[in-house]
Amino acid sequence: MISIEQYNKAKEKAIIMIRNAGIKVRDDEIKHLEVADFGLSNLDQEGAQIFTFFSTERVGAKVIALFPRQTLPEHWHPPIGENPGKEETVRIIEGTVYVGLPGEDNLKDSILPNKKKDYYTCRQEVVMKPGDQMTLEPGTKHWFQSGDEGAVLYSFSTCVTDVKDQFTDPGVGRITQLEE
Ligand code: ZN
Repeated sequence: MISIEQYNKAKEKAIIMIRNAGIKVRDDEIKHLEVADFGLSNLDQEGAQIFTFFSTERVGAKVIALFPRQTLPEHWHPPIGENPGKEETVRIIEGTVYVGLPGEDNLKDSILPNKKKDYYTCRQEVVMKPGDQMTLEPGTKHWFQSGDEGAVLYSFSTCVTDVKDQFTDPGVGRITQLEE
């Protein structure tokens, strides 16, 4: 849960970051930006600001703004019925992004969120810079953390079913609750 004030501030900050990265967002579209605290009530440490360009039944395109050292919690995109699950390609536009993937532990520059180490099982760190991109196959666990400057990245994916994403942290709730 976050306050309406915090929600609005985060939204404003994220729009500035996205526009500074050279991406045009019309004023009347700003309402489509989602501030996600993943139900963890610790937005600056674990969360993401997500602007969806479009999301059809088959394809989705988004831009994600991450504040300095903000981490998008570890999750994966499970199969749904006949569908093998979401395939996601990320491309960094601004800043440094640390991606956590399954594999040998080589964590170096990323910093796992305080007291949450159990919920970050992916310990192979890949460092991504502007212009780098990566495709995550369905079912592959991953998390993203921005470096000290914050980061802006694209996320292109098949079948957008974010509510079906699975998170390692059982405390995660995908819908952001606002304090009255
Ligand atoms: Zn993902």
